Amino acid sequence: ADSQKYAGIVEDCCCDYETVDSLNEELLHPLLQELVKSPFFRYFKVKLWCDCPFWPDDGMCRLRDCSVCECPENEFPETFKKPFNRGLSSDNLVCQEEKPETIVDRTLDTKAFRGWIETDNPWTNDDETDNSEMTYVNLQLNPERYTGYTGPSARRIWDAIYTENCPKYPSEDFCQEKKALYKLISGLHSSISIHIAADYLLDEANNLWGQNLEIVKDRVLRYPDRVRNLYFTFLFVLRAVTKASDYLEQAEYDTGNPSEDLKTQSLVKQLLYNPKLQAACPVPFDEAKLWQGQGGPELKQQIQKQFRNISALMDCVGCEKCRLWGKLQVLGLGTALKILFSVDGKNHIDQPLQLQRNEAIALINLLNRLSESVKLIHEMGPTVEKIIGGQ
Ligand code: FAD
Repeated sequence: ADSQKYAGIVEDCCCDYETVDSLNEELLHPLLQELVKSPFFRYFKVKLWCDCPFWPDDGMCRLRDCSVCECPENEFPETFKKPFNRGLSSDNLVCQEEKPETIVDRTLDTKAFRGWIETDNPWTNDDETDNSEMTYVNLQLNPERYTGYTGPSARRIWDAIYTENCPKYPSEDFCQEKKALYKLISGLHSSISIHIAADYLLDEANNLWGQNLEIVKDRVLRYPDRVRNLYFTFLFVLRAVTKASDYLEQAEYDTGNPSEDLKTQSLVKQLLYNPKLQAACPVPFDEAKLWQGQGGPELKQQIQKQFRNISALMDCVGCEKCRLWGKLQVLGLGTALKILFSVDGKNHIDQPLQLQRNEAIALINLLNRLSESVKLIHEMGPTVEKIIGGQ
């Protein structure tokens, strides 16, 4: 990105563009690229069935590049198939009497906690504890890139997202929280557009793929706020990952392949406890500033509802591969929101953090996608200016 336009601190964040670019290039991008290849992080569980609650007429995309290869049963890790019964489920505990002394203390000792629980994410529409119709997808085989999905079906989803669920803030006095929701979605949208442009079908007859700089310019670079929103989203998700450090460090990365799993664990630690990152950008985003005004809890509930609607809209994405990445990235954002603003959705009580394995997978893969986009825009910006000209 152009150094003059994107200088100084990323709006509403705590680090400047230059620092983000250099940290990303030297540290985050290489680490994340390795991490998402690991057996633990490459299989995402997803309900791909198109179950659009808004436009029942929406047909499935039939374009060749839209289809997703699902994993054959024997490919994904054995441990992923087992039910979650590692002593944390409280379903089988029957309360004898309602006396305080009979009540089981369910406070989780995070130090002792290993393994993953099944829990529903309050920010998303899908019930993450419902395993029916879920399939495992190897993300490495299904890169986010150009699919040919365009026209009214794609347009009405983005329109519904922006007009009904996260309008662009019209003035300075628009509340910070709504502004943050808009920026998160816009940043994600920029990232999707950058991935489409970075891996584009340039010549259909010869199946030639490559970069499409016009698209980068027309959809992203021409609008500096879209670039800024991308950096904002990246820092927001990075903050969520670092805030969940203790949890993620102690989690189990067991896929039945000890040497790979040790490597995954070591990469996770390198990401979470990095002296360079801690020195240069210790708090990428300061979530404590939000929800402080009057009506904080109601506002949180309203924004949560809007985000859930956005998540429901992913079932209307008429292209399977776009739906896969849409669902993954919205779950990743929902997980970041859950980590930063942990509430149970009803009572607004702060909860001890609990993540589902699929949430961690979505979170890290989203961070990787955003990191790729930040790197691409940093590199492609000057080339676009040189070859196609300024905005
Ligand atoms: P669109 O990207 O459709 O944008 C629509 C309108 O939104 C623009 O006219 C503009 O007003 C506004 N807008 C655009 N960018 C931003 C921004 N960053 N911030 C704020 N406002 C913005 N296609 C693929 O080829 N591969 C994919 O993997 C893929 N994934 C998708 C996932 C989802 C969830 C959706 C809804 C669509 C996906 N698509 C994908 C389609 C793709 O995003 C575009 O819709 C399509 O390429 C048509 O682009 P467009 O130029 O009409 O603008």
